[in-house]
Amino acid sequence: TDPADYVREAIRSVPDWPKPGVTFRDITPVLQDPRAFRVLIDIFVYRYMRHRLDLVAGIDARGFILGAVLAYELNLGFVPVRKKGKLPFRTVAEEYTLEYGNAAVEMHTDSVRPGQRVLLIDDLIATGGTMVAASKLLQRLGANVIEAAAIIELPYLGGSTALRDTGLPLYTVCSFN
Ligand code: IMP
Repeated sequence: TDPADYVREAIRSVPDWPKPGVTFRDITPVLQDPRAFRVLIDIFVYRYMRHRLDLVAGIDARGFILGAVLAYELNLGFVPVRKKGKLPFRTVAEEYTLEYGNAAVEMHTDSVRPGQRVLLIDDLIATGGTMVAASKLLQRLGANVIEAAAIIELPYLGGSTALRDTGLPLYTVCSFN
């Protein structure tokens, strides 16, 4: 089987969570299955081994799991893009709008040096709001954001279009309609 299909088949779909009518795509079974976990990380390793990256930036919280393992495998540093209020040192924040209300992502001001080539990673892209905010934050710190990556894309929510409008390429392993 296609490695991407192997990963896709390990993803669990949970109907009506976190609210009625929404189907949550749950990657915990992918992480739990050693073969699926390795296939997943290897897909990213082979894609990014020739990108001459300097850093992987992972988005709170599942992006930390993927990003940290990928950074280690590629011999790169890892930096967290956190939810607001968690980081202890000097920070910069970027706000974005959710379906109800606002959210913000935050990074340490010294987490990227100007010109560093950075890969941004999360488990899933829906509207793209989180990825766009994170990439803006990285760019404010002077990063050269090379690509955004996720395991899952929900094309009907428009995330790839939102990212493309900011000029950032998106790579995803699989999608659900
Ligand atoms: P966006 O900002 O609308 O693109 O939403 C993406 C963010 O919400 C990511 O940080 C995801 O982890 C999270 N998210 C939204 N829907 C799901 C889902 O079905 N499964 C896992 N994470 C999700």
